[in-house]
Amino acid sequence: MDLFEYQGKELLRKFEVPVPEGRVATTPDEAAEAAKGLGGKVVVKAQVQVGGRGKAGGIKLADSPDEARAVASRILGMDIKGHTVKRVLVERAGDIKAEYYCSFLLDRSNRDFLGMMSAKGGVDIEEVADSDPDAIAMVHIDPLLGMSDFHAREMVFGADLDPEARPDAIALLPKLFRAFTQLDASLVEVNPLVLTGEGRVVALDAKVSLDDSAFYRHPSFDQLKAAHEIPEQERVAKEKGLNFIKLDGDVGIIGNGAGLVMSTLDVVKAAGGEAANFLDVGGGAGAELLSSALEVITSNPEVRSVLINIFGGITRCDLVAEGIIDALGRLDVKVPIVVRLDGTNAEQGRKMLADAPHPMLKSADTMLGAAQLAVDLAHGREGGS
Ligand code: GDP
Ligand code: MN
Repeated sequence: MDLFEYQGKELLRKFEVPVPEGRVATTPDEAAEAAKGLGGKVVVKAQVQVGGRGKAGGIKLADSPDEARAVASRILGMDIKGHTVKRVLVERAGDIKAEYYCSFLLDRSNRDFLGMMSAKGGVDIEEVADSDPDAIAMVHIDPLLGMSDFHAREMVFGADLDPEARPDAIALLPKLFRAFTQLDASLVEVNPLVLTGEGRVVALDAKVSLDDSAFYRHPSFDQLKAAHEIPEQERVAKEKGLNFIKLDGDVGIIGNGAGLVMSTLDVVKAAGGEAANFLDVGGGAGAELLSSALEVITSNPEVRSVLINIFGGITRCDLVAEGIIDALGRLDVKVPIVVRLDGTNAEQGRKMLADAPHPMLKSADTMLGAAQLAVDLAHGREGGS
């Protein structure tokens, strides 16, 4: 789970990583109140989980509580790359002498941790990695031995931070690493880490990704989860035990097996369409599961057609057909549904569908044919049935 900046900073503070003092606000008045409490100049920051908030107008300085109210009212409700701003973080603003980058992450291919630091901070690190890879110091850390002071020095000197920033940065990195390991994070990224006018080194931004599989070790994380509104459709899908991910297209997808569903997404794309979701019903898909799946998919108003792509192995196509027929009886489906059945008992399944005609039900023999038909129907082009 990716945390919001304010949540990440709250956690980092517990590990004594220096972060600016700040408060979360959900209304312009709260932002003004927060600015008043902090005193002086503040920065108002949109809390959304995308980078580049500054460029998008989601980060603004304010000299007074009134100004904080005004900028907060502009930022709250703003759409940043598809994310609506529901909260802002109001922080005491300081002078910035230099912006750096640092992060710790799980390096799966090397089976260790990777620490990265650069004196070129505040910009997209991928860009730095492309244009000037030598500007990023990388240090591998053995998970069993942990981080030592020499690692911190290697990062700081390797990245060639300003001499003034070095002592603070060398003291900060082990704390950040401790946060990273103790929280069971897969990433902590501070961009920018800044050198302030007073010569202090402070984490001005924080991106923390927690490992969901380790949540059982951290009961207090429940609180963090509460701030994440899961999209309604995904919440319902999860409740019904479906492996569902929402996408942005208009062709609903149901398949069995993650690999088949992935290829179905590709084939829909190849046919000129865009999938509305990923949904894997797994093996042994019965009536209950299929009707849940159809219900969840068609609850998305963007969906113009549904493609059910089943390859029967353990899954029997006759049971899938039964499930589809049953689901269509229960649900008021208003979009065309294209079904492709292949594999175990496919003939039987197809016959069952043919014998139970439904105005919205179409069959196709091949995967590509089915995808093409679903895409055509989504685009309002009537294909054969
Ligand atoms: P991101 O672009 O979404 O990653 O947002 P950041 O939190 O990294 O902020 C982007 C930029 O805004 C930083 O690199 C800073 O230049 C600027 N910024 C953020 N907070 C402050 C602040 O407290 N004071 C000043 N002067 N600038 C800030
Ligand atoms: Mn940033």
